Amino acid sequence: MTEIYYTLESEVRSYSRSWPAEFVKASGATQTAADGTEYLDFFAGAGALNYGHNNPVFMEPLIAYLQSGQVLHSMDMKTPAKRKFLETFKSRILDPRGLNYKVMFPGPTGTNTVEAALKLARKYTGRQHILSFTNAFHGMTLGSLSVTGNSMKREGAGIPLTNSSKIPYDDYFDGETADFLWLERVLEDSGSGVDKPAAIIVETVQGEGGVRAARAEWLRGLAELCRRHDILLIVDDVQAGCGRTGTFFSFEEAGIVPDIVCLSKSISGSGLPLALTLFRPELDIWSPGEHNGTFRGNNPAFVTATAAIEEFWADDSFQQELAGKIELLQSRLERIAFSASGAGVRGRGMFGGIIFEDAELAGKIAAEAYRNGLLVETSGPKDEVVKLLPPLTVTREELDRGLDILAAAVAAVAP
Ligand code: PMP
Repeated sequence: MTEIYYTLESEVRSYSRSWPAEFVKASGATQTAADGTEYLDFFAGAGALNYGHNNPVFMEPLIAYLQSGQVLHSMDMKTPAKRKFLETFKSRILDPRGLNYKVMFPGPTGTNTVEAALKLARKYTGRQHILSFTNAFHGMTLGSLSVTGNSMKREGAGIPLTNSSKIPYDDYFDGETADFLWLERVLEDSGSGVDKPAAIIVETVQGEGGVRAARAEWLRGLAELCRRHDILLIVDDVQAGCGRTGTFFSFEEAGIVPDIVCLSKSISGSGLPLALTLFRPELDIWSPGEHNGTFRGNNPAFVTATAAIEEFWADDSFQQELAGKIELLQSRLERIAFSASGAGVRGRGMFGGIIFEDAELAGKIAAEAYRNGLLVETSGPKDEVVKLLPPLTVTREELDRGLDILAAAVAAVAP
């Protein structure tokens, strides 16, 4: 969306959200504006609200914690809230999936977990370069931005960023092959001075890059290439993780086990900031103090994160119900895209998108949807994709209603 509807004089220009409403309330998949207008929220905090707004599942334990007199801020000290989260994460998430990771709290946000992953990969391997993909998005701090494949975002750093190379994403994610032959040849060509990378970082679904989903076979090929060449595989599951693709981790379907996993956004469930870097136990090489920070022990976020896991991931009932909603979303997206010329469906799981040949249409559709009570974002290199991230807890009725609004917006703007 290009129109800037509302910015306070004291506020910066750099935000991209331009919805004019001031949002005063939120519940589940709905946000309410000051004038009483209700909006279905299929943006969900860019994937930070997979369980919806103000879910009672977290609100009750959160309020109880806040009133209990327990520690709110504790850096990396021990607290019962942190212990409970770590125990729950291990017993409900890691163990059932046969995953053996150490858990680090690298700082509050997604970019902090990516920074930690990149630093650790470099320190562990003693190598400098990280390979990443065109159109990737990994965050806004210097390291994360250096592996981000979006020149507009990189411009924010002012000068060119070093230490990473981009592999073209399109041929592989949308193409037929999964053999990585050309990359293999480059990696084996030590005679021409090609630096072996420390790691390859990948999103299994590029969110900001236009809802491009990697095929399972492609991911297996990438994991195998990393294994053969002793390169660490980092999966950035900041946006695609926590159930968004239909399983807790987005790489489960491919059956791969990354060396390092980045989680944030929906891990706290409540929208409170929390980030996790998971890594193989052998990678636990930082000495005390080598990678620390103030906000790495958000106890209220631990409380809500524990409640989220207990409620949604203790058995497979949530996942089964989610599978039905994913089918509904995907089949309706197919029909909506079919109705507009030059449009196509993108995504995997509850991570949906419609791509338009004429990039301007996507922004116009999002604006039209907003006028009719639906919040959706655009993404992609030219903002040519309408991106849909409904909360995973959305009801079927809400999902249908939101998609009705989207279908009408597509019909009005791109008949
Ligand atoms: N990685 C991915 C895949 C993301 O989508 C994002 C945020 N959109 C980030 C990292 C950065 O997270 P944050 O904005 O919390 O720093």
